[in-house]
Amino acid sequence: MHTEEKKEEKSLNFLEDIIDTDLRTGKYDQIVTRFPPEPNGYLHIGHASSICLNFGLTKKFPGYTNLRFDDTNPTTEDTEYVESIKNDIKWLGFEWKNELFASDYFDTLYGYAVELINKGLAYVDDSTSEEIALLKGTPTEPGKDSPYRNRSIEENLELFAQMKAGAFPDGAKTLRAKIDMKHTNMLMRDPILYRVKHAHHHRTGNAWCIYPMYDFAHGQSDSLEKVTHSLCTLEFMPHRELYDWLIKQLGIYPSHQYEFARRNLNYTVTSKRKLLQLVKEGHVSGWDDPRMPTISGLRRRGYTPHSIVDFCDRIGVGKRENMIDVGLLEFCIREDLNKIATRRMVVLDPLKLVITNFPEGKVEWLTSENNPEIENSGERNLPFTRELYIEKEDFMENPAKKYFRLAPGKMVRLKSAYIIQCDEVVKDGDGEIVQVNCSLIENSRSGADSSGINVKGTLHWVSTSESVPLEVRLYDRLFAVEDAAGQEGDFKEYLNPNSLQIVTAYGEPALKEATVGEGFQFLRKGYFSMDRDSTKDKLVFNRTVTLRDNWAKSGK
Ligand code: ATP
Ligand code: MG
Repeated sequence: MHTEEKKEEKSLNFLEDIIDTDLRTGKYDQIVTRFPPEPNGYLHIGHASSICLNFGLTKKFPGYTNLRFDDTNPTTEDTEYVESIKNDIKWLGFEWKNELFASDYFDTLYGYAVELINKGLAYVDDSTSEEIALLKGTPTEPGKDSPYRNRSIEENLELFAQMKAGAFPDGAKTLRAKIDMKHTNMLMRDPILYRVKHAHHHRTGNAWCIYPMYDFAHGQSDSLEKVTHSLCTLEFMPHRELYDWLIKQLGIYPSHQYEFARRNLNYTVTSKRKLLQLVKEGHVSGWDDPRMPTISGLRRRGYTPHSIVDFCDRIGVGKRENMIDVGLLEFCIREDLNKIATRRMVVLDPLKLVITNFPEGKVEWLTSENNPEIENSGERNLPFTRELYIEKEDFMENPAKKYFRLAPGKMVRLKSAYIIQCDEVVKDGDGEIVQVNCSLIENSRSGADSSGINVKGTLHWVSTSESVPLEVRLYDRLFAVEDAAGQEGDFKEYLNPNSLQIVTAYGEPALKEATVGEGFQFLRKGYFSMDRDSTKDKLVFNRTVTLRDNWAKSGK
């Protein structure tokens, strides 16, 4: 595979370096990584980066990757999300070894908590969350011990059992690790391990009314699965000390945590919580709205798995957070679609053109290549008639200098058809151009041109009578600013009001054979993909990306 080859040429990134050393020194025979999504939303492009990293490492080095759902927050999680996450990972082309759920470890985790209590390393606290916060201190001031900190082991065991049995309402009690309220790392100041929450869980139902906190679930799950390299984003760096402390006190398999920088894309938001708001409040049509930075949105928009993996590979992994230009993602999909997308002609903003020396009612069937980038990509038939549509922007009554498209007295070639000359402009009562009359140049048919005439411009076109009307959805950036999440106030105030424009376009009849998700290059207009809203009577296309390549031009 060519991405593999490319990787070989590149020097190792810092995580690959660590793993390479661990394997060479015999610390491990193989590595185990995991991708640990919380099933509280659909995966986005940032997750794709983490997926490519975790699965990519075990493609490169011996070992395997698990998929683990980090489902310890019953109120936000749902099986719909579990299914979409699995579907998206598979679509990207990755296979997990084991499908696991943190909720499967609830019994084991409960046992670990009891063990900590028995060792005098955890206690039940009756303080409210406000009281706990008050005693926590600040980064520069030490915290203070809770009045419940010195309960006996017996009392703690009894109270924790009662918590589990449902004796207390939400928030009435917590189980906390007994570490050090004066610790320089705030997360080590007696962190909460369990909270009371009477809520239905998408997998365990009503079996539990206490749930482990992230810090008490994540590291222990890693350890139970013998994960060697647990990769997470930078904000978890201060959690590593607690991760190691818990593993050490419990004497369980020593998984290790490593941090890498989150990947953010400009002109969008990459946070499931924020994306959920867009869906719930109807700013987009759903999680797979083609403007969304979700994997499902990108798929519906016409992105290929290869283009997304290529994008993640190009940005690589880093130790510092930065904003990635969406232009790079667009560059990757253009590169891929240029090679594979079938060419078709579609007029998005029609202007009627009449070939006055072509007989009325006649349909001449021409042919055109499906994809000049692929040998033997085949041809399709193109109907040529007296009345055609071209793009409005391809005609100028008073042409600017170096305008090589159609203008009075000028000649152009109609792609895969004839050279035509513009003879007359027809206007309505308001002076608007409604029609352009042209004549066809004899012996100028593409492939059989003996006219001896050279023209600079080639235009795409369709027959007015033989074409099919299409609904075409033109997308622009979802947000008007690069970093909506970093702005003052509500990020939704920065939505781009013009992110969707719907037009009726006219396409050549071969498009009737298109299938949902199939990608095309509409000549001179961009790459488009057939949307699932299409019916036999109404074909709908999404613009994946325009043809213009701003990213490459700006020199990266
Ligand atoms: P969100 O804020 O969107 O909910 P999250 O980090 O809470 O993201 P998780 O479901 O916990 O989402 O993420 C699963 C994995 O994906 C984690 O290891 C997380 O670090 C990683 N991840 C999430 N967002 C990004 C991102 N923008 N770039 C790189 N990795 C990410
Ligand atoms: Mg999360």
